[in-house]
Amino acid sequence: MAYENIFNAEIARKLAESSDPDKVLKDELKAIEERSIELNKAREVMSKGYSQVLKGLQMAFPELDLEDPNIKDSPNRMARALLELCAGLGSSNSDVFSTSFPAENYNQVIILKDIDYTSLCSHHFIPFKGSVSIGYLPDIHPDHGGKVVGLSKLARIVDVHAQRPQLQERLSFNIMDAIEKELKPAGVMVVIKGKHGCLNCRGAKKERASMITSALSGQFKDDNKLREEFLSLINDGTV
Ligand code: ZN
Repeated sequence: MAYENIFNAEIARKLAESSDPDKVLKDELKAIEERSIELNKAREVMSKGYSQVLKGLQMAFPELDLEDPNIKDSPNRMARALLELCAGLGSSNSDVFSTSFPAENYNQVIILKDIDYTSLCSHHFIPFKGSVSIGYLPDIHPDHGGKVVGLSKLARIVDVHAQRPQLQERLSFNIMDAIEKELKPAGVMVVIKGKHGCLNCRGAKKERASMITSALSGQFKDDNKLREEFLSLINDGTV
């Protein structure tokens, strides 16, 4: 899955940039081995915890058959699934934006829309999912240090902040703030649509309800026309 690909791409970049690739490779393999041991220990602890959860569920509902072949190894699978859903915790903003370019003279809004994400509600640990649209206006002033990045980096920064216990409101802010701090643009706007398992499957059980949140900075805050242009571009399906 994506997390391992990111890891491999990072190693490939370090190897290409190093004057002593053998040492870099040795160090990286050692780090991977240590990390695998840590993750395995964590998985065992989590798996034991999930066994207790299922035992508790059986206390509430004795009909639950914990020897069912489809449930027997579930604590282990639940632990692996949670580790995967939280993989974004292992990356930082600077990991994602390590390769960027000076903004130079590109002074139009850059948009990536409908970036799928799956996150985990930090109140209930039930998934919520949907799409993120991001627009940013590069700062081309030569003294401001404005940068631009490849579009795949915008998709990755979504995963870094979505793949962890999260709230949709905070996810919007985290993505906006990451772009604001790392690319120093003239403005950023992030709009997120989300369907929440905690609302759709339990609680109020409103199947079709979805939540829309946004976070914006700089010229997107000050300039109504810019904000409207972004909203119409992400909503009318022409981009
Ligand atoms: Zn929730």
